[in-house]
Amino acid sequence: MYTLKLQKKILKFIVDPITIFPLDENQLANFFGDDTKKWIWNKPKLRKLLSSSVEAAQCMPRSPRIYSIIDDFCHDIKFRKHINDPSFIFKFVVTKDSPWFDRTIQELMVYLYSDVFDGKPGFNVNPLKVSNRSNFVYDFSIHNRDLLVCPVCDQLMPPPKNNHSAHTLDHFFPKATFPFLSIHPENFLPACHHCNSTLKGTKHPIKYGNGLPDSFLPFHESVSNVAKVKFSRNQNGVLNIEVIESNGGHSNRTKNFMYLFEIEDQWRYIVMEHVVGRIKHEINKQLRANKHLDFSDLLPHIQYIKTDHDNNKGKWPYSFLYSGYIDYLLSNSVELQGFIPSHISIPASYNQT
Ligand SMILES: [Zn+2]
Repeated sequence: MYTLKLQKKILKFIVDPITIFPLDENQLANFFGDDTKKWIWNKPKLRKLLSSSVEAAQCMPRSPRIYSIIDDFCHDIKFRKHINDPSFIFKFVVTKDSPWFDRTIQELMVYLYSDVFDGKPGFNVNPLKVSNRSNFVYDFSIHNRDLLVCPVCDQLMPPPKNNHSAHTLDHFFPKATFPFLSIHPENFLPACHHCNSTLKGTKHPIKYGNGLPDSFLPFHESVSNVAKVKFSRNQNGVLNIEVIESNGGHSNRTKNFMYLFEIEDQWRYIVMEHVVGRIKHEINKQLRANKHLDFSDLLPHIQYIKTDHDNNKGKWPYSFLYSGYIDYLLSNSVELQGFIPSHISIPASYNQT
């Protein structure tokens, strides 16, 4: 939480009535202490952004925004306390139409992530003791040793190498819009590059609904514990994939999850490429080993693939999908027929639904 304390202190400096513009080294040293003053003064871009923010604040001294900025910061960074509160709204949300002061603060907060937390040589210097991005991601992988897949799409992640994890760091609430969460550890979602950059990007995480309960917040709840994947086929035979609540219903949070990471398109490809192929391979292996197998002999092998993946969630890629798809397969004799060679018949009485 050092990063958050630093951000708060910088905001206090910006709106402090005794801060004078332009900046000088003495007032920085008086406010932050010598070490932090040196750290700021040796970063020309940080100095420039800080200076712009002070100037912007002094252009509107009586603005409610100036009075409330510290309270707004404290309010927004405590969003986790409100995860079940549908009325919670962030107080500092920046758009391209926001006032100059808000936009300068946004630029400053994003700089602290992009050029300092995320940059090199990083931010891991005394007396600030602020971690940097690669340390955070590495620590995450060390503390989640059993998690070998991308927490979003379930694909296998390469192991950490030379202190560098293959996970990238997504800002669940995008830092451009929610700058107070730019270095907030609970806003970080370590995910694969494809999920983070290609699919999610800067999408707002709450498109459907408008409160925190309408999303699956990182570090709060695992989607796989409270939701499941539902498969069906449309009239043209195209596989439909939906993430639904465990009780079977749709919700804003399942819709938002699907929208953010383009789950249906992403997983449809994975099911066709991996899951279907593996099941067919397993069935063919059994048929080659014993030409006289019948339908009832094959079922346990399909069930076995599901159980195997259920027991290795987070370790084996696509366990969530194997489980959901095999449930669908075993409950749907038409779908199942596609996997069974024509000389093996499915009993007319077979119907799991
Ligand atoms: Zn992913």
